[in-house]
Amino acid sequence: MLEASDVDAGYGQVEILDEIAFEVPEGEILSIIGPNGAGKTTLMRVLMGLIPARSGSVELQGGLITDRPTHERVKMGMSLVTEKQNLFTEMTVAENLKLGSYTARGDEKEKRLERVFKLFPRLEERQSQHAGTLSGGEARMLALGRSLMTDLDILLLDEPSIGLAPHLIPELFEKIREINDRGVSIVLVEQRAQEALELADSGCLLENGCIVHRDDASAMLDSDEVIEQYLGGA
Ligand code: ATP
Repeated sequence: MLEASDVDAGYGQVEILDEIAFEVPEGEILSIIGPNGAGKTTLMRVLMGLIPARSGSVELQGGLITDRPTHERVKMGMSLVTEKQNLFTEMTVAENLKLGSYTARGDEKEKRLERVFKLFPRLEERQSQHAGTLSGGEARMLALGRSLMTDLDILLLDEPSIGLAPHLIPELFEKIREINDRGVSIVLVEQRAQEALELADSGCLLENGCIVHRDDASAMLDSDEVIEQYLGGA
């Protein structure tokens, strides 16, 4: 579904990502964990085409997309949701959602809206409210819901739990699971390594711009290195 091969990227003179390689098979979840500054956000931006890969390649469903602009990647079924949710705070919840499917026909748009409301009943209840009046958790759900309004095949999630009250986090992970159950492949960058790996099929540990460990998620959860550094104890 999505494959990165020997990807290097950076900013100006600074090299951040070094020979990144992984694949996300169709319908699977890959969790990327690692310390602050490891390059996780940079990697998501490269996958989405927001910054260029300096070398290496990115393939989506067998086609090279390394040099494709972001809007084409969106049309091809990719979407990136970050902590900066970029919601239109003066517009209603329903208007924000509909903007996510601006290319879809009217009836298709309504169908997708219904699906989003089924997944997030709270958004349906609040559909006429301005997005700026939502709580932090609801706004995060709206950002996720908007990505589902595209013709989504692969969702890139950059730190979805950041800034959320702890009691909201199990529900967030449950929603991510439900999105995956609908057939959407997911790349999940998370500080919460345990929960992220429990949700995932496979995992990557990124340090200093390099993937230093890559395995099935269950093997990552059993790895001494991951346990010691990311799961709080030996
Ligand atoms: P965090 O969890 O703290 O967001 P991260 O793993 O997502 O960390 P990145 O945000 O990708 O890491 O940052 C990787 C490195 O790139 C850091 O050293 C950071 O300072 C640098 N960096 C990030 N954005 C830019 C930029 N726009 N210009 C220059 N350097 C940048």
